[in-house]
Amino acid sequence: MTTSHPKHSAKGYAERVIAGDRRALSRLISWAENGNAKFPEALEALYSSIGGAWRVGITGPPGAGKSTLVNELAHALRREEREVGILAVDPSSPFTGGALLGDRIRMDELTGDKHVFIRSMASRKSHGGMARAGVDACDVMDAYGMDRILIETVGVGQAEYDVMGACDTVVVVMCPGAGDGVQAMKAGILEVADVLVVNKSDMAGAERLADDLSEAVHTRAIRNDEWAGKNGEAWTVPVVLASAGRAQGIDKVLEAITAHRAMLESCGESGLEDARRKKRVAQVRRVIDEELGARIWNTDELGARLEKALAAGATAYGVAAEVVDDLLQGAALKTRSKDS
Ligand code: GDP
Repeated sequence: MTTSHPKHSAKGYAERVIAGDRRALSRLISWAENGNAKFPEALEALYSSIGGAWRVGITGPPGAGKSTLVNELAHALRREEREVGILAVDPSSPFTGGALLGDRIRMDELTGDKHVFIRSMASRKSHGGMARAGVDACDVMDAYGMDRILIETVGVGQAEYDVMGACDTVVVVMCPGAGDGVQAMKAGILEVADVLVVNKSDMAGAERLADDLSEAVHTRAIRNDEWAGKNGEAWTVPVVLASAGRAQGIDKVLEAITAHRAMLESCGESGLEDARRKKRVAQVRRVIDEELGARIWNTDELGARLEKALAAGATAYGVAAEVVDDLLQGAALKTRSKDS
């Protein structure tokens, strides 16, 4: 491919990503994470190359075996000669950052594989725009040419739900014992599942948990609300027993993911396309929220005004309503000057 743009410009990086340059891939993900003002231009140049990757979210309670499963799935996908991107999203901890994956699992063989790209993201860098940055990172990996992107979230906060909501298939991992299925059901974690994995099938209680979950899946008729209703049928969430630690059942997990994909694709316009369109809309909303926040708080003026109004005895709601009305009339919106 001929490079027509300066190497370090936004378009230059985008061209390099499309041409398979890992350093450029890494750089653009950092731009996404840091909210670099040049990122939108780079993403625009990548846009026509996005859409080939299947994005699989992996979530579940701590200790269920998510990292171990991600590792095994990546190995299995490599055996199928897929290009694999892995993104670990860790919004809860300010400390684990870059060391996250290396510390947690046996990624050594994978890190040496040029067909695998592993990246972790921490909220301290993305200033609360975790879900937005995560989706951006997936877009960059997608344009790079990844066939599969595995997105692992650590924790169960709103940002994780948002990240999962942006995936094509969501795998919820459980295990017998601590943080058991009933708890998870209460926490609503099952609502986001397209595929349920009961990991640690080598441990007592795994089959019982799988039975309980299967029952829950049927009685509550969990369905993919993206297309259920329109098609008159619902996706019955499969419950798959696996032991990631022993590399057992991994093929079954992949089969379930593939079946979910086939289901979405078979619904055409009302399936995958519709689902992806909705996910795009959600991303635009996140970008708007961030952009508005950045512009509004970019000025000291507003802070001073709030202090003054409160000092004069106004209530928080009163001041806020007045400010929002003004902002919507364009009174206080300043052009964002942040440039890095
Ligand atoms: P995460 O917190 O959900 O990412 O869980 P990890 O992948 O870090 O695994 C938590 C612990 O469970 C680790 O000590 C793993 O070695 C162990 N583990 C993972 N898979 C299995 C399994 O299939 N069987 C058993 N017995 N232990 C497992």
